[in-house]
Amino acid sequence: MMRIDIISVLPELIESPFNASILKRAIDKKLIEINFHDLKDYASSKRRQVDDYQFGGGAGMVMMIEPIKKCIDLLKKERTYDEVIYMTPDGEMLSQKISNRLSLKGNFIILCGHYKGVDQRVRDSLITMEISIGDYVLSGGELPAAVLCDSIIRLIPGVLGDETSALTDSFQDDLLAPPVYTRPSSFDDLEVPEILLSGNKAKIELWREEKALERTKKLRPDIFN
Ligand code: SAH
Repeated sequence: MMRIDIISVLPELIESPFNASILKRAIDKKLIEINFHDLKDYASSKRRQVDDYQFGGGAGMVMMIEPIKKCIDLLKKERTYDEVIYMTPDGEMLSQKISNRLSLKGNFIILCGHYKGVDQRVRDSLITMEISIGDYVLSGGELPAAVLCDSIIRLIPGVLGDETSALTDSFQDDLLAPPVYTRPSSFDDLEVPEILLSGNKAKIELWREEKALERTKKLRPDIFN
């Protein structure tokens, strides 16, 4: 079973996405185990201090190495980890390829930054992979970590009800997904494409492939090949 340990100064910021829908079902089915660690529990001072002013001056606090190292070391004593990931806007941009790759692995630690980020020595000595969810800056790594976890977990076999469903999503095969419709087949003057009502599975499949190609070419020429 895959296990993810998430380290954060504000674990309550990340817990709720795991309490509903597909992620909750994956946890209930024991396909994945998620553990949250409050970095403040690993602080050495009574004040539970986990951040401090930056050397050289400048606005914004920096997360200290000691509590992070203590937490990661304790986790590593219990089991081995495939990756220790730091969520950061200057990391490798998250993509379906990365999520696919990570979904095949076993255990991860995910470190969420806050404030100005973490002391560079954390990144140099403890982190094996740095991931960004896009070219914009958020206040903390919790939402990015939730995004990363969601994209990985839904790819684990057995998590999605319909086994093939993740394979037909956008970005698998470098294609966007075709459009989808449901009842009613006719709404005001908006009609569902007739072919989808035809019952002809082979033709429907072909139509979907065509639409996927068409949409990718039009909307994402950068990934079309
Ligand atoms: N000073 C840093 C930004 C810190 S933002 C810089 O300019 O690069 C605070 C924390 O939020 C980061 O440590 C990181 O964990 C998280 N974060 C912010 N934006 C993110 C993004 N696009 N992807 C992943 N994590 C992000």
